Amino acid sequence: CGIVGVLGNHQASPILIEGLKRLEYRGYDSAGIATVNGGHLERRRALGKLVNLSDALVHDPLAGTAGIGHTRWATHGAANTTNAHPHQRGRVAVVHNGIIENYRALRARLEAHRITSETETDTETVAMLCDWHLGQGLAPVEAARATISELEGAYALCFLFQGEDDLIVAARKGSPLAIGWGEGEMFVGSDALALAPMTSEITYLEEGDLAIVSRAGAEFRDADHQPVTRARKTVDLEV
Ligand code: GLU
Repeated sequence: CGIVGVLGNHQASPILIEGLKRLEYRGYDSAGIATVNGGHLERRRALGKLVNLSDALVHDPLAGTAGIGHTRWATHGAANTTNAHPHQRGRVAVVHNGIIENYRALRARLEAHRITSETETDTETVAMLCDWHLGQGLAPVEAARATISELEGAYALCFLFQGEDDLIVAARKGSPLAIGWGEGEMFVGSDALALAPMTSEITYLEEGDLAIVSRAGAEFRDADHQPVTRARKTVDLEV
C-alpha cells in the first residue's frame, strides 16, 4: 500500500517511519522496515498501527543508513506479522504495492528447485525469485531486472540487497513510484507526499521503468531496459 526508501547519511529507520506516517491516510494492516547495516540485511515488522512498529524498534533497534519500508494492505494472505513486508529471502528484501498475478506459477517453478514459501503472500515470491537469480550469479541490478521480467500483474517494487548499502532498485508497473533527490541522499516513495519532509525534487517513474538508485543519484531504464531520461520536478507539498 505505502512504500518508502532511503539511501541517506543519517539512521534510516526514523526517516522510514516518518515517511510511512505520511502514507497512513491510505489505510494499512501492518508495517515493516529493512535496512542494510555493515552489509548486513535485517528487518522488523509489526501487525497493526505504525506505533507498534516504532515500539518494536525501541526494544530492538535497526541500525543502518540504507533502508526500505512498507505499510501493507493485504491482498494475498492474512494480515499478520509473517505476511508483513519487507519480504526477505536470502540476500534480498522486497517491498511491494499491488498484486503479482502469476505468483502461483512462479512459486511452483521455485518449488521444483526446493525453494519453498514461508508466507502466504504473492510478494514473497518476488524475493524468492530474485534471490534465486543472485544464486545463479547475477549481480543485484541484473537479478532484479530478471525477476521483474518474469512478473505479471501490477507492482511498485523496491529491492534492497545484502552487502549493498548504496543501492535500491525500484520498479513500476501499474502502481505509482517516485524517486526523491537530496544532497548526497536519495529517496523512494509510492507518493511524493511521503517524501515531503525530505525533498521536493521528484522524478516519477513511468510504466515499465526501473530505477537504479544510489546516494549519488538515480539512473533510469525503460521497459526494454534502455537507458532513459526522466524529468526531475519540484513539487510543492505541505510538509
Ligand atoms: N499483494 C501484496 C500483499 O498482499 C501487497 C499488498 C499492498 O499493496 O499493500 O502482501
